Amino acid sequence: MKLLEYEAKHLMNQFGLVVPAGSIIRHNESATIQAGFSLVVKSQVPVGGRGKAGGVIVVDSIDELQEATEKIFSLQIKGYTPRTLLLEPRLSIAHEYYLSILINREASCIQLVAHAEGGVEIESQAGFSTWDLGVGENDFELIGQQLAKLYGTPGDTAQLKDVAEKLYECFVVNDATLLEINPLVKTTDGTYICADAKMELDDAASFRHKDWGFEDKPAEVNFVTLDDRGEVATIANGAGLAMATVDAVASYDMVPANFLDVGGGANKESVLRAFTRIMEYPDIKTIVINIFAGITRCDEVARAIIAARSEIDTLPPLFIRLAGTNFEEAAKLLEQEDIPTLATLDACLKAAKETIHG
Ligand code: GDP
Ligand code: MN
Repeated sequence: MKLLEYEAKHLMNQFGLVVPAGSIIRHNESATIQAGFSLVVKSQVPVGGRGKAGGVIVVDSIDELQEATEKIFSLQIKGYTPRTLLLEPRLSIAHEYYLSILINREASCIQLVAHAEGGVEIESQAGFSTWDLGVGENDFELIGQQLAKLYGTPGDTAQLKDVAEKLYECFVVNDATLLEINPLVKTTDGTYICADAKMELDDAASFRHKDWGFEDKPAEVNFVTLDDRGEVATIANGAGLAMATVDAVASYDMVPANFLDVGGGANKESVLRAFTRIMEYPDIKTIVINIFAGITRCDEVARAIIAARSEIDTLPPLFIRLAGTNFEEAAKLLEQEDIPTLATLDACLKAAKETIHG
């Protein structure tokens, strides 16, 4: 389960981690703001990169706040429309760092990950330091020293030990699988503040957290990247069919980019979000859609396909095979938009291959 930033910060605060004193604005609810300016207005969506997408705005007056609020509520960020905003006092930033804790499944351990630079452009893979952590005994004294060395702040050993230790506590006690602080900010007065937080909790542990009551998030699709430079994206329903679809693409000597199971609860919004994510792959030349609908409804998928066609300018050719629940309605909707469907997956793959390799 992915938490929204404000939900994560609320948990972190309980563990003594320093977070900005924030307040919440919900869509279509009036709010009385009791805070001085400047403020930062932050969209609450369960994806990163909000800053780049215009979802983080600094405001210096009530008018600017009003304007920013309206603007952010109308934004689409990677397919998500924010329903909640977080208002925080603007920080006086001396430097931004990166710090996270996650479960490293390959090494079967909890891992602390740090980088001397944080913020919006941290995607570059070089320069990360990692520490493998056990459950229970860890030398945070040493980690504090090493973090201070990495960050180039030798005087901050004690503070960084404290941050790392509390982050670890918060991670373990809450059965998290990810807790990422980016940026961890050092303010001009020398304190470390968790300015942004991304947190994922282990759903399998929910039985021992009766207190977990988080905002409902939209239905998510099961999406796995197979190859960032893949040329064929796939959309299917059911894990088995989704895997078979990926295999079928490969058997035609094409490179599949992703595995995608839109799941039984797929609706227009969740499938449209899947299209948005697919469009982030730079080399995508076609999308193969293979739906054998039981609980999934073909008409919902068709509506998402139609919306994707009108909203995404760069959408590559689609090859679509639909069967099952509400197929007739879906076929009618697609026909009205001149979007053809094919009778078999094989026909889709042949057509895809022709598009790619001529
Ligand atoms: P993200 O883009 O979704 O990761 O959102 P962040 O909360 O990390 O915000 C993006 C960037 O906004 C940060 O890296 C900061 O450089 C910048 N920023 C400027 N002032 C502030 C501030 O007072 N608070 C926070 N959280 N970010 C600020
Ligand atoms: Mn961030």
